Amino acid sequence: MAEHTRLLIVGSGPAGYTAALYASRAELSPVLIAGSQPGGQLMITTDVENYPGFPKGILGPDLMDLFKAQAERFGTRFVQGTVTSLDLSRRPFRAVVDEKEDWTADALVLSTGASAKWIGLPREAELSGYGVSACATCDGFFFKGKELAVVGGGDTAMEEATFLTKFATRVTVIHRRGELRASKIMQERARKNPKIAFRWDSVVADILGSREEGVTGLVLQDVKTGARSNFSCQGLFVAIGHEPNTKLFAGQIELDAKGYVRTVPGTTKTSVPGVFACGDVQDPFYRQAVTAAGSGCMAAIDAGHWLAG
Ligand code: NAP
Repeated sequence: MAEHTRLLIVGSGPAGYTAALYASRAELSPVLIAGSQPGGQLMITTDVENYPGFPKGILGPDLMDLFKAQAERFGTRFVQGTVTSLDLSRRPFRAVVDEKEDWTADALVLSTGASAKWIGLPREAELSGYGVSACATCDGFFFKGKELAVVGGGDTAMEEATFLTKFATRVTVIHRRGELRASKIMQERARKNPKIAFRWDSVVADILGSREEGVTGLVLQDVKTGARSNFSCQGLFVAIGHEPNTKLFAGQIELDAKGYVRTVPGTTKTSVPGVFACGDVQDPFYRQAVTAAGSGCMAAIDAGHWLAG
C-alpha cells in the first residue's frame, strides 16, 4: 500500500528545505524525501560568506542544519532515502523510495539540485578516491604536504584551491583559457595566495598513476599549440561546474538544451501541471544558496495555489 501526501518534496538543499518550511506553515503537511546527499551541495562546502543574515559567515553544514530544524519546527515530515522512480503520467503522482517504499502525492516539488561535473577521462573514474576528487572539503585532509592540481576557472575552483593550501605545499590551477570566470573577490584571494600557481590555456589530457601508488602526475595539453607536457602532482581536484540532477524525470517533463528543468518564467511551474521545480535543478545561471531558497519559497506558494484550485 502506498502512503499518500498532498505535497511531496524531492531533494533537500536550500530549495527543498525552504519549500518545506513554507508548505508546512501553509498547512500542506509536506513530506520531504531527503535524497542521497541530505542538505545538498552546501554539505560539502566550508564557509558560506554570502548568505544574508550571517555577517561573520557560517559553515555550509551548519546552515543546512538550521534550515532543516526550521522546517521541522512547523511539521515537515522527513524521509531518509532516495527516490528511485517517479511516475508523473498519472494522478496522484507516484514516487518509489529506495525501490521499496511507495508514495503518492497530489503535487510535487522537484528540488534535486545539481552534481559536480567530471572531465570525462577514462582514468578519472578509475582513480576517483585514489588521488582524484571533486570535493576539497571532503578529501583535502588526505593531501597534507603534497602538490596538487585543481582544474577549472570558476568560483568553485578558486574556493577549492584556496582551501587546499591549508594542506598542500603548492596548488596549481589549470584553466582552459587565459582568463578566469570566477568573481573578482575569489580571484583576488587565490591570486594573492603564495601557494597557488596558475597554468593557463591548458587542459588535462591524461592522469598518471595507479590505484596502488595514487596519482603521480598529469599530462597537460596546451590548447593553443597542442603541445603536451608532463606535470608532477599527487592529487587532482576537478572543479569545472555542475550538472542538474534530472535523470529521475527526464522524458516526463520539459528540460532545456542543457538538461535543466524548464519553468514558466517568473514561476516554478513546469510543463506538468502540479509539478513545480526550484533550486539548481532549474537554474543554470544564478545557482546560489539564497536564490535556491527564494525559488523554494516560490514553489511552495505555487503548489499551495495549485492544490487550492
Ligand atoms: P562555473 O562558474 O560554471 O565554472 C566552471 C569552470 O570550469 C569554468 O572556468 C569553465 O571554463 C571550466 N570548465 C567547464 N568544463 C570544463 C572542462 N570540460 N574542462 C576544463 N574546464 C572546464 O562553475 P562553478 O565554479 O562550480 O560555479 C557555479 C556557480 O556557483 C557560480 O554561479 C558561482 O558563482 C557559484 N559559486 C559561488 C561560490 C561562493 O560565492 N562562495 C563558491 C562556489 C560556487 P570556462 O571559464 O572556459 O567556461
